[in-house]
Amino acid sequence: MLIVKKFGGTSVADKERIFNVANRCIEDYKKGHDVVVVLSAMGKQTDVLLDMANDINPNAPKRELDMLLTTGEQTSVALMAMAMHALGVPSISLNAFQVAMHTTSVAGNAKLIKIDKDRIRHELEQRKIVIVTGFQGICKYDDYTTLGRGGSDTTAVALAATLHADACEIYTDVDGVYTADPRIVEDAKKLDQITYDEMLELASFGAGVLHNRSVEMAKKYGVQLVVRSSLNTTEGTIVKEEVKMEKMLISGVASDKNVARIAVVGLEDQPGVAFKLFRHLANHNVNVDMILQSIGRDNTKDISFTVTEDMADVAVETVERHRSGSLKCQDVKVNKNVSKVSIVGAGMQTNPGVAAQMFEALYDANVNIQQISTSEIRVTVLIDEEDTNKAMNAVHKEFDF
Ligand code: ASP
Ligand code: MG
Repeated sequence: MLIVKKFGGTSVADKERIFNVANRCIEDYKKGHDVVVVLSAMGKQTDVLLDMANDINPNAPKRELDMLLTTGEQTSVALMAMAMHALGVPSISLNAFQVAMHTTSVAGNAKLIKIDKDRIRHELEQRKIVIVTGFQGICKYDDYTTLGRGGSDTTAVALAATLHADACEIYTDVDGVYTADPRIVEDAKKLDQITYDEMLELASFGAGVLHNRSVEMAKKYGVQLVVRSSLNTTEGTIVKEEVKMEKMLISGVASDKNVARIAVVGLEDQPGVAFKLFRHLANHNVNVDMILQSIGRDNTKDISFTVTEDMADVAVETVERHRSGSLKCQDVKVNKNVSKVSIVGAGMQTNPGVAAQMFEALYDANVNIQQISTSEIRVTVLIDEEDTNKAMNAVHKEFDF
């Protein structure tokens, strides 16, 4: 069997944990399996490196940031190989260059294009444990790239798909995927299974447990994932295409505080206005999420939308820049004190009243809804940031997990 095992930063944060991971990998190796290990940088090392960069130059070139950040993963894989050697097991660490993990050239947010198999296959044939840097790649100019924060999950899934692995295990510091963040909702429960679609919505709407692109890729290539703890032997959560029929109506509640709401007030009420607004924003790489259009006074309309907090200023500047030209409006307002709370569940497709039930729980908790958006299997509300935890708990309780 070929097993891909990915360990997050907390799982390799210090010497003791590195040896703990080494032993878990060696266990599988000694059963005769081929083992490929993907690691994140140790502990909070990526944040430490970012702080160092920011201290030297807050506007550091993205290329240099990637050059710096990739050292985090390179450190952890080298130390892991040393630990395995100390335990008498042949192993080798490989970075993105040595494997040849090809990506697009978008520094800081590159997408994997192709992973070469030969080197890894060769090392596995020599009966070595192969330890690969997560989160990084190389672009066509032979520069290092990174896949976006949390991107090691995506490296692991991509490797599992490329190598046709028999298992892809994502090890973290929690026991699996929960119905809500246990730090916010006390009686959150661990799920045994969840579908790709539900996991993708949860990951995209605030559940920090998996990188959303890793879930997208797992679905695309049919890679079944297991999310479990590196610190104990609890079973974990399986992420796959379909789950048991008697599953719950809602599989989870997620929240995201990294949201800002932009309101463009008093736009002309005529065709093409939304097109122009969102075209300008797209041209400035502003990713827009929830959109709401409402009727204003005297043939005007208001459009509001949400973006991540770091893009709020760019969004406002973009609108301001075009205000006197193609985009006439009366005012642009920004509110960073908002958050999103979402419920996700495949069951809502066939059961009416799920949204109403969520709104009722929010009403009972006296939480005001500013905006709503939905997909087939998700309902998201935009609320005051300070109401986040109260709303999470109220909604979680309502669905009786
Ligand atoms: N070390 C990177 C980060 O902190 C990638 C990862 O951990 O997945 O974002
Ligand atoms: Mg992660």
